[in-house]
Amino acid sequence: MSAADWYAHKSLGEGLSGSRSDSTRAYLTTSTKRGCSAKIRRGRTRCWPSPPTPHFDHSGGLHQFQQVGVHSAEVDALANGDNFETATWLSDREIVEAPSPGWRARHYKVKAVQPTHILQEGDVINLGDRQLTVLHMPGHSRGSICLHDRDNKLLFSGDVVYDGAMIDWLPYSRVSDYISSCERLVGLVDSEQVDQVLPGHYNTFGAKRLHRIATTYISRAGTCPAKFSTFAWGTLAGVALRAFNPRCAC
Ligand SMILES: [Zn+2]
Ligand SMILES: [Zn+2]
Repeated sequence: MSAADWYAHKSLGEGLSGSRSDSTRAYLTTSTKRGCSAKIRRGRTRCWPSPPTPHFDHSGGLHQFQQVGVHSAEVDALANGDNFETATWLSDREIVEAPSPGWRARHYKVKAVQPTHILQEGDVINLGDRQLTVLHMPGHSRGSICLHDRDNKLLFSGDVVYDGAMIDWLPYSRVSDYISSCERLVGLVDSEQVDQVLPGHYNTFGAKRLHRIATTYISRAGTCPAKFSTFAWGTLAGVALRAFNPRCAC
């Protein structure tokens, strides 16, 4: 796969486009307004509104951006290059092309990056002709956020919710917080504030699907099989990540 294929985007309409190469999604907005005061901005008219998360599949390239916004709870993880909290875990079979001869997945580390913007619940990111409100939605990680475009009823949901198995067993995941965040997502649907979800993985989906995914998580998370599974995966992940990231400060 060439770099052009890897970074290709397809239009999602209304000045939005999304990456299409693998399961991890990023979104690009195009602002036509001069004087755009976007906090997260690349160049004059291009903005990346994909919600930041500390995990390596989203944070590995942050060091290449001039401006990086992240929730306050995860500033230290990124600033310290903490590969335990960033859940840096790769296998050789996931690598399409090694960056240099002899390179192995175990050599990969997330580069430390100093966030330029520390985000909190209720902050508004002004992209000129699009406003994104920060919603703190912990559970998957402690600083997970969604970005809500209220005017267009769009929700950039990052890793908080996507159309696949929700992960609540990583370092700093917390099931009780995740349930509360899902209850909030249900509230957004019930109050008709979301028409379309643009997630951090897989395909976009609508409000009805969001309601189903969130209510399903809420109903299953408290069951014994789910608790056992979360505990088992969390223990394994913790042991494995510590083994592969012996220099982390955790
Ligand atoms: Zn994640
Ligand atoms: Zn992810």
